Amino acid sequence: MRYISTRGSQQNLSFLQILLAGLAPDGGLYLPETYPQVSQATVDSWRGLSYAQLAFEVLSLYADDIPAEDLRAICEKTYTKEVYCHARAGDQPSDITPVHWLGEETVVNGQGTTSIGLLSLSNGPTLAFKDMAMQLLGNLFEYALARENKELNILGATSGDTGSAAEYAMRGKKGIKVFMLSPKGKMSPFQCAQMYSLTDENIFNIAIEGVFDDAQDIVKAVSNDLSFKAEHQIGTVNSINWARVVAQVVYYFAGYLRSTNNSSEKVSFCVPSGNFGNVCAGHIARMMGLPIEKLIVATNENDVLDEFFKTGVYRARKSAETFHTSSPSMDISKASNFERFVFDWLGRDGAQVAKLFKQVDTTGGFDYSNTEQLQAIAQYGFVSGRSTHTDRIHTIQSVASLYDTVIDTHTADGMKVAREYLTAGVKMLVLETALPIKFASTIEEALGHPPSRPSAFEGIEDLPQQVTEMAPDVQVVKQFIVDHTV
Ligand SMILES: *Cc1c(COP(=O)(O)O)cnc(C)c1O
Repeated sequence: MRYISTRGSQQNLSFLQILLAGLAPDGGLYLPETYPQVSQATVDSWRGLSYAQLAFEVLSLYADDIPAEDLRAICEKTYTKEVYCHARAGDQPSDITPVHWLGEETVVNGQGTTSIGLLSLSNGPTLAFKDMAMQLLGNLFEYALARENKELNILGATSGDTGSAAEYAMRGKKGIKVFMLSPKGKMSPFQCAQMYSLTDENIFNIAIEGVFDDAQDIVKAVSNDLSFKAEHQIGTVNSINWARVVAQVVYYFAGYLRSTNNSSEKVSFCVPSGNFGNVCAGHIARMMGLPIEKLIVATNENDVLDEFFKTGVYRARKSAETFHTSSPSMDISKASNFERFVFDWLGRDGAQVAKLFKQVDTTGGFDYSNTEQLQAIAQYGFVSGRSTHTDRIHTIQSVASLYDTVIDTHTADGMKVAREYLTAGVKMLVLETALPIKFASTIEEALGHPPSRPSAFEGIEDLPQQVTEMAPDVQVVKQFIVDHTV
């Protein structure tokens, strides 16, 4: 498998060559030259596989420069029931991503019912779906660095979920250090405890006096200093990394296989979306031939993507137009993985994509309303909807009372929008992107009591915490990295 950039000027790279990369040098994102096709017979032949075996089958189509036995070992080591151990009572932990059926709901036109369920993606160490890809990335990075006798210093900024998923994936890994900036005093006590209580020698938590954007700006400034970046082996693990996207393709196959008896049946997926990484993996699974009926993009009040899929107008938001919501991991101003879909949608024309996204940088967006291309979106199965704080509260209440199941705020956005697209006989899986304990205060607002806490997390707020506080100063952060990497 060879990789290219969505902006046309990179080609013929292998999986290991792009594994540690973020953006391509031309500013584009990496994608495979073609999507490997998986026949219905092949899909059906994967029915008996464990999650780790399925991951190997899917990933080996993309990472064919890793010897099969090595890739198999990496998958087996990553997807274990010991790591993904927080499944709901009654769900099968060995499934890694169990399907938790809620029940039958009436479809949109009132003519019949269909089953709706949660695809549980949040049973990993940090209780959010980012563990699904990040845990694999930790093992892939360690493997690739050891092969080349290299080291990597990961620098990132987080408002919560990404940073903790990265730290739990990279902790104790040989050749890797993590420098994670977070906005001081802006995360929930639970999120702080998750990150700051790690005592591994290769993990450095830095609390920046400021907001998330201040932390993000520092990461950008350091990454733009190319000589510093090269000298100190600085890398990132943000959501545009190709390996993260492709790791997520696996659970669309797993969810499909657990919901059907044979591959003549179609399933719809509803995906709580921010940077379009998760649902981009669904798009890729569908392009590979997985029988997906609809891919439903669910946004919160930050509805850039809903607007695009409804109207063909893409309009990146300014910071002042970006809302802080009760599903904070979806609070985005533009969707960083969206360019991957646009590349496929516009016939894989790199020059056109380059032009379009340069236009986004200068004018803030593009407009495909009233065009043939807008009609063409339907053939990719995409539809969309949005959800607000009030919707979230009502949906959490409704799912709790109908099904005795507590869902988190992001999953609630997905559930709300999924209900707008139910069709008779097509099963609907809502991707559960976090467990409710991570967003306890909104759950309490909805239900009058806090969500239950997995026993492994009892009292984590009381553990000793290790964090270095710092002014929002690029030089100070650089010096800290220098002092801790020799
Ligand atoms: C990151 C995240 C999302 C958004 O995922 P994208 O891949 O950015 O679309 C949704 N929910 C939760 C809980 C998350 O952590």
